[in-house]
Amino acid sequence: MQFFRDSMLDLVIETSTNLPPDVRQAMSAATRRENAHSQAGQALAIIGQNIDMAYQDEGAICQDTGFLTFEIKTPVGVNQIVMKREIQDAIAEATKRGKLRPNSVDSITGKNSGNNLGPGTPAFHFEQWEKPDVEVRLLLKGGGCENKNIQYSVPCTLDHLGRADRDLAGVKKCILHAVWQAQGQGCGPGALGVCIGSDRASGYHHAKLQLFRSLDDTNPDPVLAQLEQEVLADANKLGVGAMGFGGTETLIGCKITAANRLPASFFVSVAYDCWAFRRLGVLLDADTGAIKQWLYRDPSRPVERVMPEGEGFKLTGHEIRLEAPLTEAAVRALKVGDVVLINGPMVTGRDAAHSYLLHYDSPCDLKGAILYHCGPVMMREGEGWRVAAAGPTTSIREEPYEADIIKRYGLRAVMGKGGMGKKTLAALKEFGAVYLHAIGGAAQFYAQCLKATGVDLLDKLGVPEAMWHFEAKDFVAIVTMDAHGNSLHEDVATTTGLELEKVGAGKA
Ligand code: SF4
Repeated sequence: MQFFRDSMLDLVIETSTNLPPDVRQAMSAATRRENAHSQAGQALAIIGQNIDMAYQDEGAICQDTGFLTFEIKTPVGVNQIVMKREIQDAIAEATKRGKLRPNSVDSITGKNSGNNLGPGTPAFHFEQWEKPDVEVRLLLKGGGCENKNIQYSVPCTLDHLGRADRDLAGVKKCILHAVWQAQGQGCGPGALGVCIGSDRASGYHHAKLQLFRSLDDTNPDPVLAQLEQEVLADANKLGVGAMGFGGTETLIGCKITAANRLPASFFVSVAYDCWAFRRLGVLLDADTGAIKQWLYRDPSRPVERVMPEGEGFKLTGHEIRLEAPLTEAAVRALKVGDVVLINGPMVTGRDAAHSYLLHYDSPCDLKGAILYHCGPVMMREGEGWRVAAAGPTTSIREEPYEADIIKRYGLRAVMGKGGMGKKTLAALKEFGAVYLHAIGGAAQFYAQCLKATGVDLLDKLGVPEAMWHFEAKDFVAIVTMDAHGNSLHEDVATTTGLELEKVGAGKA
């Protein structure tokens, strides 16, 4: 299979940069349905623009290029050892070209392998079939949405829904609860893969496999087809909306399978995928490894834009300009719902940087600074660096640290996505700071607003975790937690919880 490695490189790059048509269409329809003037509408416009930019520039759709899962079918006799080796080679090459962020770390030492390879990474699942060709399907699933996967063991009691029994009504309650608990942290609008039954480990695997189905297909089982439709309709009544800002577009797909279980166990396993639903596949000639056909798309049809040409996120004139470093007065004047345009310096910091900042002194002055929860994709250019992808990461992971860091270093803004908890909210109020919400996954959109001016802790923490210094130009974000104790995330969780009760009771 002399072309196999190149075919795999094409597959990896296309999957990372060009969303499949079913996802594009679903996102385009969601954008048209949402109120364009709402925060969720603005978020969808940025996401749509980002998807189109990523295809145009062959850049990563999201900076979190995700965990790679390969589902491979081969005729009898194909050498799977060689295939694995060549896929690994293709992944390392795609990483070198900046199409994938170095995203694989040693679970004990935290050291980044630098090439997306390591024990258990990527995931390969081989199966033999009786066809003459090789089929390779690939899913790239990011950490933010992976962290919102959830497994229920029924019967159980759920917030706002009460008891979920071992029947289809109980299963439906679990799935709706899964959507609600994700709020904006999984970068909705999301899509679900669900498995009813099986054991714990296989249940999650079967759930993930459902994400390989096209969003517009129909489940061959009429009972499950009906359940999929009901969940989709009911989830979109909850009002979680894009990025959890509140709105009509919460879910773009729900795909369900059922697998036999032990009489004593009844699991409902839910795999939550974000709007950056990167999934593609190819059919290959088993002799040469050359691509015979792309799956999920018709290459004779042009790639459909999510936003019509010339349309996308538009400034309204009501945005507030923030010049960093920020003063306490500027920050205290902000309130939840304000849209801001940031200019000036900001510095990135995510999990490893937060841990470092708690245990050692900061390598840079953070007084008045904006700390951006972001693990960018960076490319060396001469002596400097180019920002290749730089959307926000999920902030709630830093909840145990953030209040102490705000207090110790005098930060005036923390920026990420999905919001933070009560401890951070109290610190924002006490020390005069805000939480700014950037649009999750909008990696290309934000990369164009940022110039790299330096980096700290690169050798110690690696590319995604290092503290990158950026100069921002008109970087758009929304204040979702202010210095007066208000949180949009708390408000939306409360109102959507009440809607969940109504939906569960059949009164929505
Ligand atoms: S869009 Fe959000 S959840 Fe999805 S991979 Fe990107 S950052 Fe993670």
